Amino acid sequence: MTELLSRLRQEDFPRSGAVVLGGGCAGLALAVALVEAGGAVAVVEARTGDRDERTWCYWDTGQAVMPEAASRSWDRWEVRAGAGRVVASDAAHPYRMVRARDYRAVARERLARSATGRIVDGVRVSVGADERPGGRDVPRLFDARGPMPSVAVPAGRVLLHQRFVGQWIRTTRPVFDTAAVTLMDFPESRAPSGVRFFYVLPVAADLALVECTVFSAVEHVSEPFRRHIADYVRSRWGLDPGEWQVEGQEAGSIPMTDAPAPWPGRSGVPLGLRAGAARPSTGYAYTRIQLAARRIASAGGRGAPPIRDPFRTRVLDAVFLRFLRDQPHRAPEVFLRLFGRLPGPLTVRFLTERSTLRDDLRLVLALPKAPFLRAAATTARERLRAVLP
Ligand SMILES: Cc1cc2nc3c(=O)[nH]c(=O)nc-3n(C[C@H](O)[C@H](O)[C@H](O)COP(=O)(O)OP(=O)(O)OC[C@H]3O[C@@H](n4cnc5c(N)ncnc54)[C@H](O)[C@@H]3O)c2cc1C
Repeated sequence: MTELLSRLRQEDFPRSGAVVLGGGCAGLALAVALVEAGGAVAVVEARTGDRDERTWCYWDTGQAVMPEAASRSWDRWEVRAGAGRVVASDAAHPYRMVRARDYRAVARERLARSATGRIVDGVRVSVGADERPGGRDVPRLFDARGPMPSVAVPAGRVLLHQRFVGQWIRTTRPVFDTAAVTLMDFPESRAPSGVRFFYVLPVAADLALVECTVFSAVEHVSEPFRRHIADYVRSRWGLDPGEWQVEGQEAGSIPMTDAPAPWPGRSGVPLGLRAGAARPSTGYAYTRIQLAARRIASAGGRGAPPIRDPFRTRVLDAVFLRFLRDQPHRAPEVFLRLFGRLPGPLTVRFLTERSTLRDDLRLVLALPKAPFLRAAATTARERLRAVLP
């Protein structure tokens, strides 16, 4: 860290500038937002090149810092389970897809245009205990180095790991319906360790990202993800092995928890997954990351506390998360009900933290009562037990 700072000084990087550790989703969004608000920013990224490919999707609520990075969008999505299928839509808030390499390219271009932003590639930073931000030589520091290594959550809280493998599948004949994204397709056979489903982004009739996802309380769950995808491709589209090939692959593990994020960070203002940006009940983080970047930039680059959802949303998320952990076998029925019974725009408002009290009440009424009352009661009991002496 000290070496890095003296290198930046030699390059005339202003003392008032912000240093962002990690040039991923959150680091680049903040850097672009800050330079466009008139600040100077250096992003320090461990990797070089485009090795870590990933695809982000989000419902567009107008918050994206780099909207031009999106390359595809859909205004219809479906949830499937067994013979059940529901389709929902919200034309005003399409579901957009961003490839990470496009995002990085747009960010680099915007930073280069600003003249006050720079990216230092290939430097893996570790922050020493004596290098806490706030000192004379330590600038405003933001820590966007991705999720913290997994730690146990405090008593009364829940942690699920959303693990997935996605494959870009090219077929020899047109099979994908490009009109609708498959948000969740629950197979007949359940995962022994939690909830398993498939996710499909059909970008062309012969090209789709097909993902197999598991929500599990066990971090290192051993799931044959690739075999599940091959079985799914055969059963859903009737494709033989010779009729498709894998053009690219991505994988991830996203923490879903109702435990509060660490604040303040020991190595600068935490951002992105490090700041607990993933929505507890869904794992979606993209829009929250964009919002945080905008908020920090409009506050003149001062750190903002991590996103704190309204109390109602936090309660609903905590109960939903516990339901997913304790009653995973009921997940297919519940998601079919939610997407089937509620209007598309309402579901999207809930998923993007814009729901009104009336929306939340309608959502609660659409849920099956017994499993959620049980999850709510356990949440209340466990939280009380954790605070009582
Ligand atoms: C494959 C995948 C798909 C996802 N899809 C979605 C989605 O569709 N929608 C959604 O809302 N969320 C999605 N997420 C969740 C979340 O939005 C992403 O994980 C997002 O990339 C998190 O942003 P981040 O900046 O916190 O971390 P990252 O984007 O992972 O960025 C961290 C950066 O820090 C760098 N770094 C790490 N250590 C150091 C170090 N010591 N020094 C310097 N640099 C370092 C890394 O190289 C990396 O570039 C997805 C996650 C994954 C893994």
